[in-house]
Amino acid sequence: MINKLEKIVGRDSILSNGKEKLRFDHIWKTDIPTNAFAVIFPKSTQQISEIMKLCHYNNQKVVIQGGLTNLVGSTITKKNDLVISLDKMNQIEEIDEKSRTITVQSGVILEDAISAVDKKNLMLPLNFGAKGSAQIGGIVSTNAGGLRVIRYGMTRNLILGIEVVLSDGEIISSMKKITKDNSGYDIKQLFIGSEGTLGIISKVIFKLEEKPSSRFSAIAGLTNYENVINFLKFMQKGLSGSLSGFELIWKETYKTMRDSSSEYSSLLDTNFPYYVIIELLGSDPDNDYKRLSELIYSAIEENIIEDALLAQNERELKMIWNLREDVSVLAKKSTYDQHFDISLPIPVIENEVNIAIKKLNKLPYVENIFVFGHLADGNIHFIIGKSKNDEEKTKKINDIIYENLRKNLGSVSAEHGIGIDKKAYLKTSRSNGEIDLMNRLKKSLDPKNILNTGRII
Ligand SMILES: Cc1cc2nc3c(=O)[nH]c(=O)nc-3n(C[C@H](O)[C@H](O)[C@H](O)COP(=O)(O)OP(=O)(O)OC[C@H]3O[C@@H](n4cnc5c(N)ncnc54)[C@H](O)[C@@H]3O)c2cc1C
Repeated sequence: MINKLEKIVGRDSILSNGKEKLRFDHIWKTDIPTNAFAVIFPKSTQQISEIMKLCHYNNQKVVIQGGLTNLVGSTITKKNDLVISLDKMNQIEEIDEKSRTITVQSGVILEDAISAVDKKNLMLPLNFGAKGSAQIGGIVSTNAGGLRVIRYGMTRNLILGIEVVLSDGEIISSMKKITKDNSGYDIKQLFIGSEGTLGIISKVIFKLEEKPSSRFSAIAGLTNYENVINFLKFMQKGLSGSLSGFELIWKETYKTMRDSSSEYSSLLDTNFPYYVIIELLGSDPDNDYKRLSELIYSAIEENIIEDALLAQNERELKMIWNLREDVSVLAKKSTYDQHFDISLPIPVIENEVNIAIKKLNKLPYVENIFVFGHLADGNIHFIIGKSKNDEEKTKKINDIIYENLRKNLGSVSAEHGIGIDKKAYLKTSRSNGEIDLMNRLKKSLDPKNILNTGRII
């Protein structure tokens, strides 16, 4: 098998015979070496196809690895797995300024794609904390969300074309730059968000936006959840289409972040139960700033918010967003940490979070409860720290967070996907009929069950 794989990619693009242990399966677990039979680095779609033909013929199980930033255990490997890493498929093939598209291979790191289009005065609106490591293939296969979904939608809203390799090596190419295509099933949507269980994404075409000429941000302190909802409505109305971020942070999370560095000492006091960070992307710098500051003053006058800080320069803007994005500070506070990314209807969030916090506080091994989220999308993140780690304790915490999802018609995963870690809870968000259809799709596209086996279903 190794000899045949070497013939496809060359000796320099495969790690085996112990060398695979130089790699790891997650960026936060660099001390745990990859446990697999080999790691292979294809450089083209054709090579992926040949690898998959060989694997299909030999019933060889494959784990696909991108930037290794997922939070659901989906890139973890077993002894007999073959890892296909997309690290070497890292070419930006084209930026088409007239069609406003970028064509990228799936191993391109998000931040590199963002910088490349920025130089052409365009914008790829995807934005989240792991952008410096996450790869396009991983982002597309998890349908990542992030900080600007309120305005631009999830990853699936930004994709025009896709190329994938199926489990038997067949290449399916739908690399079109058009927005409207109702000629039958929208096949690309099958692969977006399917976490590498139906095919290996090799290339993607994203649609781009004009680069905004202004970006302003503010952080506000609020005394109750009802006003958080009022503030969202107020800002959506006042800024119409230019509100591009609305992030909610609970008090304990804000306090921990603010206290973590002297960098944040000029930010708001830590005495509010809720903090909201907003972002405006616009095209008229002077008037945009004026409009935002007027709105903030009005929100204070109308008692919707209590206090606010409007970033006056790039340094303050970065400081506000660092506080929101650098979640590793929260994870490091705990001996062991569990991450959650549930979806709930906006009106029930306060009550559901309070119920969960109350129950979690009764568990003696819970060290920290950090809550924050993309409120406008109804997406709440929990990072829960515990002093001891075993299956029973993990399950107890999972059960508390996921208990009312079905009742509220929420979702066990707003963003990160199901992977391996959340499989047992898929049924909290999906009906038997839906799960059955997922199984039928999997069987039809990967009949030998060799692609990312055991993920999602
Ligand atoms: C600090 C931090 C912040 C984050 N913030 C957010 C956030 O705001 N919003 C959000 O949605 N997510 C967030 N995430 C998680 C997010 O899902 C991942 O960052 C990203 O989408 C995964 O990309 P990756 O390249 O790291 O993929 P990996 O972790 O390598 O893989 C993820 C999944 O995709 C599969 N895969 C990888 N490449 C391919 C491919 N080419 N074809 C098919 N399948 C493939 C893998 O097998 C795996 O199942 C965050 C993660 C971190 C660490």
